[in-house]
Amino acid sequence: MIRKLLRRVFNIRAAPFSASAEPARIPVSQHGVHRGQVSPKAIKVCATLQDHGYQAFIVGGAIRDLLAGFSPKDHDVATNATPEEVRALFRRARIIGRRFKIVHVMNGLETTEVSTFRAAQDAETDSRGRVLADNSYGSLAEDTVRRDFTVNALYYDPLTETIVDYHHGVADLQQKTLRVIGDPRTRYREDPVRMLRAVRLAAKLGLIIDPAARAPIRDMAILLENVPAARLFDEILKLLMSGNAVRCIGQLREEGLHHGLLPLLDIVLDQPIAERFIWLALENTDARVRADKPVSPSFLFAALLWPEVSRKWKERQAAGDPPYPSLFDTMDEVLAVQAQRLAITRRIAGDIKELWGLQPRFDKRMGRAPYRLIEHPRFRAAWDFLHLRAQAGGIPEDLAAWWDSFAHANQDKREELLRTASDSGTAPAHKRRRSRRKPNKSATPEPNPAS
Ligand code: ATP
Ligand code: MG
Repeated sequence: MIRKLLRRVFNIRAAPFSASAEPARIPVSQHGVHRGQVSPKAIKVCATLQDHGYQAFIVGGAIRDLLAGFSPKDHDVATNATPEEVRALFRRARIIGRRFKIVHVMNGLETTEVSTFRAAQDAETDSRGRVLADNSYGSLAEDTVRRDFTVNALYYDPLTETIVDYHHGVADLQQKTLRVIGDPRTRYREDPVRMLRAVRLAAKLGLIIDPAARAPIRDMAILLENVPAARLFDEILKLLMSGNAVRCIGQLREEGLHHGLLPLLDIVLDQPIAERFIWLALENTDARVRADKPVSPSFLFAALLWPEVSRKWKERQAAGDPPYPSLFDTMDEVLAVQAQRLAITRRIAGDIKELWGLQPRFDKRMGRAPYRLIEHPRFRAAWDFLHLRAQAGGIPEDLAAWWDSFAHANQDKREELLRTASDSGTAPAHKRRRSRRKPNKSATPEPNPAS
């Protein structure tokens, strides 16, 4: 308490508790990350700060990814200037964040996130040791200590092309090891999300989680219950959209981390059909991410939860409930269970329900219904979803194939397809339809399946 006060008054900074006294300063000839590989905007931010007498480094994921041979997603800068000092140096900069104050420096379309070195001490924690607020500033050495993994604590000075490495992060990366800085148990207690980050980063970078960091995860997974649902949702989304979802989920399961985290994984990964569906959805997503194609979170969540919806819906119908209201009741029920742990946003939940709600409409291959369906704004996504179901063996392949043909066909061919639709229980309505539609071929424009 007194020490804390003294430190405040005299601005004395406590010695870091586990950063080695002298960091390694690794020259570009050894690590090979050249200035030209990092964002010019981030370099400019560092240069401006350094010109004004501050320390400034590019830190975190960008340097880690470059060393591991990936192109970085974004660039974070760390400095000893306070957020207010940073803001004063840039024309377009604003301070954001409540839990942690950081500065967004805008430069053209790019935003560089600048954070002030933080002290590892003085953080406010809850009764279980989870850090709630942490806005006291520290030295570079202290800042390194509060980062999660050694490979994430690499500070690159773009002007000298040197990496400052307090925790042997470069060596760990070379040896393909993900190591927690400090005592893993303490660090997971402070922030249970670090367990998920460990799994995600190991899967992304092809690293082995160091045994000391891996061992406590199974026992401590329960602490994830303590994490706010919105933060968990963000983290799960990162994991699922990483392009390595298959590996990540596989690893999560191995670590026992999927329990309670995604209730859907608890239940469905034990059912072979559901499991096949989910792996297919994850594989498709990974392939899209790797091909730089857009991936929508709603599609992914809809897929992950579909086996559950489908099973419960069938149960209700078997119990005599009418199909339609019972589908909507089931959807709400399944989403409500997820909402207890994951803050799926309202918009995403709406999109998910729309995708599910469109599925039974693919069974109706008569009259105007198919025409209305292909004109629906979400037809394309619903159709992709149908394919996934067919691939997983949940519905006959020829149903999906029929819709492919129908979407791409001209008017005559569509009528033909409607006549031959061998849909059980839905009699083709060609007699009624043929005479009415044939004369005017341009009445229904060719649908654009990409819309
Ligand atoms: P990516 O951006 O590829 O998801 P990243 O490591 O850059 O990975 P960010 O969330 O952007 O992840 O975090 C930037 C840096 O902040 C990390 O590299 C790490 O040093 C630190 N960091 C992030 N989250 C935590 C955490 N929960 N505990 C400690 N340090 C963290
Ligand atoms: Mg990052």
